[in-house]
Amino acid sequence: ALAGVAGEMGLEEKLPSGFLLTGVEKLAGWVRKNSLWPATFGLACCAIEMMSTGAGRYDLARFGMEVFRASPRQADLLIVAGRVSQKMAPVLRQVYDQMANPKWVLSMGACASSGGMFNNYAIVQGVDHVVPVDVYLPGCPPRPEMLMHAILKLHEEIQHMPLGSNRQRVAEAVGAAALAA
Ligand code: SF4
Repeated sequence: ALAGVAGEMGLEEKLPSGFLLTGVEKLAGWVRKNSLWPATFGLACCAIEMMSTGAGRYDLARFGMEVFRASPRQADLLIVAGRVSQKMAPVLRQVYDQMANPKWVLSMGACASSGGMFNNYAIVQGVDHVVPVDVYLPGCPPRPEMLMHAILKLHEEIQHMPLGSNRQRVAEAVGAAALAA
């Protein structure tokens, strides 16, 4: 529709190619990054710091993250806060699958990213075996300032994400491989 309007107005000769699409992408990126809603999903000690980040002292709402959503269908950010047990992995994957696209995953802490100190059979050695990860945040546990920094880095990525990139396909490939292993 935008291309049609541009054509009628004779804008196509005057504007560089892709100008309108670039503008729409920038606007969509700005809107998305300023309205990220995290799912309520804490796994271990890192989750205490995540909860603290959402409370009054650190006030995540400043960045458009008003409230953690109890329903995955209303969330577009999954913060994996803590070690992921083998038993919890299918649950985590289900929560991720229930979130609408586009969606993002932040791996919070050494345990979520690599298993951390729990190098044993009971713990998934990195949540990227189960879901695709956009940001890895080191620390044990990362402080709220670090979590906010990671979220702002994710904002930068979202701002430059092209419209229509098919993240679901990537997620399905990663998840199918992990759950079949
Ligand atoms: Fe707990 Fe540290 Fe592991 Fe976070 S990284 S879940 S604080 S042991």
